[in-house]
Amino acid sequence: MIPYGRQDITEADIAAVEEVLRSDFLTQGPAVPRFEQAVADYCVAAHGVAVNSATSALHIACRALDLGPGDWLWTSPNTFVASANCARYCGAQVDFVDIDPRTYNLSADALAAKLEQAEKTGRLPKIVMPVHFAGQPCDMPAIAALAERYGFRIIEDASHAIGAAYGETLAQNAKQPTTKIGACRHSDITVFSFHPVKIITTGEGGVALTNDPELAERMSRLRTHGITRDPARMTEESPGPWYYQQIELGYNYRMTDIQAALGRSQLQRLDDYIGRRHALAERYDHMLADLPVQTPYQDPRHRSALHLYPIQVADTATRANTFQALRDAGIGVNVHYIPVHTQPDYQQFGFAKGDYPIAEAYYERTISLPLHPTLTGAQQDRVLQRLAETLAAR
Ligand SMILES: *Cc1c(COP(=O)(O)O)cnc(C)c1O
Repeated sequence: MIPYGRQDITEADIAAVEEVLRSDFLTQGPAVPRFEQAVADYCVAAHGVAVNSATSALHIACRALDLGPGDWLWTSPNTFVASANCARYCGAQVDFVDIDPRTYNLSADALAAKLEQAEKTGRLPKIVMPVHFAGQPCDMPAIAALAERYGFRIIEDASHAIGAAYGETLAQNAKQPTTKIGACRHSDITVFSFHPVKIITTGEGGVALTNDPELAERMSRLRTHGITRDPARMTEESPGPWYYQQIELGYNYRMTDIQAALGRSQLQRLDDYIGRRHALAERYDHMLADLPVQTPYQDPRHRSALHLYPIQVADTATRANTFQALRDAGIGVNVHYIPVHTQPDYQQFGFAKGDYPIAEAYYERTISLPLHPTLTGAQQDRVLQRLAETLAAR
């Protein structure tokens, strides 16, 4: 099977993990802060908090921004369920903003229109969570301008997008993208996932980045049971160095040193991985040009991390047929994403098919082709050949 995504593990990664296994600390040792610092430095952010998954990172990010009962979080329907579930963990409610038909990202225009309505009914969101789908940056300056006007906070779900960057202006001749995803220039917190299908991996794992020292402190505390060892944060004078206080309810969301060492080793190859993904995607673009498929749009202002390569075929019957034919040929195609609001568990909140027509129409016709740094040219040729045969047979 040619998988749609796959990790790349080198001898250097194995050596880094082995070093931890032979050391004094498997967890709560020096590798975790080193990895946090390395991710923050790469993205030009002030603070990083490493946890055991991006889902956990999204949860503590919401908690750190005081999301709770009576509050709303808005996100894209074209995402993994975790982007919405994190609000529900906090007792808050979720709503969605439809996507841009070209980028498949949460549409800043649709957001503006929905905010205008919500202001009238007094149901403005506390948090908006843009998702950089497939690694392509959302229009962060536009979303941040709306945050300024309507007073919401922003968490970027950048699970697909470590290594991506965006341009700040709409100018036609904008130069290189200037702002790295993770810099939190237009957000409060940015979250990455290090699941093996993502851009780099720690097995399971995630990092939340922020430029706000208080948010960083709060997320670190929530990661480990809401416990502080900082006497300055205690409710009374510390009786001694053994003492700690639980000052709020937290979790065990810690990342191990084993995972962090793998992550830091992987991070050194991040730019190579993005380069390889771009080369493969350009090859797909070129070779698919004559087939009846829509290739993913790349915004010229941005540099996508190209986590996914989602094409759209003619209609949903073609999608089903093509999907099956490729799977039968040992090609691990996938579908990203089933719109979250159509999940059975979301029906209790009154969502229904038809609520977000652009995300739904996109979903009906999409297939993600294999794309990962170890995909070979020969494997890619096989994907293209089988795809061309299947489409020709219809
Ligand atoms: C993978 C993913 C997550 C969850 O990441 P985990 O590390 O598996 O918890 C959240 N959001 C999006 C968009 C993802 O792709």
